[in-house]
Amino acid sequence: MTKPWSPTAFAQQVIDYYHAFGRKHLPWQNTQDPYKIWLSEIMLQQTQVTTVIPYFERFIDSFPSLIDLAQASDDQVMQHWSGLGYYSRARNLHKAARIIKTVHAGQFPQEPKVIETLPGIGRSTAGAIASFAFGQATAILDGNVKRVLARCYAIEGWPGNGKVLKALWERAEANTPKQETAAYNQAMMDLGAVICTRSKPDCQSCPLSRHCLAYHNDSIEQYPGKKPKKARPSKSVYWLINISDANDQAKVMLHKRPPSGIWGGLWALPEVQQQDMSPENIQQLEAFVHKFSHYDLKVQPLLLQSANEKALVEKNSHPSIMEPAQADWFSQSQLNEIGLPTPVSKLLSKLLENA
Ligand code: SF4
Repeated sequence: MTKPWSPTAFAQQVIDYYHAFGRKHLPWQNTQDPYKIWLSEIMLQQTQVTTVIPYFERFIDSFPSLIDLAQASDDQVMQHWSGLGYYSRARNLHKAARIIKTVHAGQFPQEPKVIETLPGIGRSTAGAIASFAFGQATAILDGNVKRVLARCYAIEGWPGNGKVLKALWERAEANTPKQETAAYNQAMMDLGAVICTRSKPDCQSCPLSRHCLAYHNDSIEQYPGKKPKKARPSKSVYWLINISDANDQAKVMLHKRPPSGIWGGLWALPEVQQQDMSPENIQQLEAFVHKFSHYDLKVQPLLLQSANEKALVEKNSHPSIMEPAQADWFSQSQLNEIGLPTPVSKLLSKLLENA
């Protein structure tokens, strides 16, 4: 069993990787201009490096400084973002540039907590800007870094969960070195993007493999944990089956459903609340579940037994009928000529055969 290593040793390994293999010649590197660093961080949030490069260069050509961006029109900014997707990023960027111009006298704030107050900038992006532009020892935790840390330290659970996120931040903070923070942060981003990829990470080339818990336990797929699936919603209904055999012909009473909602405009069995029915007058048939795409409908069919009760329902004045609707009686052959929901049709064909 491998031991997690000390934060210092971890950081040193990452910094060594940066010096040996880190990306150092991207258009937003080799600068400490917070505007360019901020722009690249926002563009990279949802987009690959190779896609970002031409957009970044065009953007900087047209808006070379933060003040140029603040003074541009919405249309100009959106036109430069066109094709990059996630357009709220551009709107927030533009808004933030105007705030920096007016509230911060055109100077990009240096404090991570203040940077974080700007539109579109979260804790990790604020940490990246503060470390790359202002040399501060701030931690970052973007999607790539979350993946690397979750695997190295076998941090279980979905990072969208508050407790898991807190554990990841604690680990990120503990491992971020006080010196060479920018190199460390850049290398962590690179490792996540290039080596510790979502599927098929290249552990053989990874400088962290010696102590990576997920690698040693052969459980890489478990980290980071997936978003838990929500329980399927369900709804329970009682269907009232009222069969009359007057004139020696079995007929069933159906209600036309309202035009909107499930089975809109089809003929279906009346929905009732069981507590309104006297138990001695009904027979519970076998319950079943009908699956819709987004929920399960649990159906308890109730066969009406008493003649008195049947007469009341027939007049459509029974208090247990939830939605008074257009009602009518149908024989088995007539059922073939009207629109019926599948579970109603299945249920009735069995019952009417035996009636
Ligand atoms: S050893 Fe593999 S799983 Fe672990 S951090 Fe490196 S690439 Fe990721």
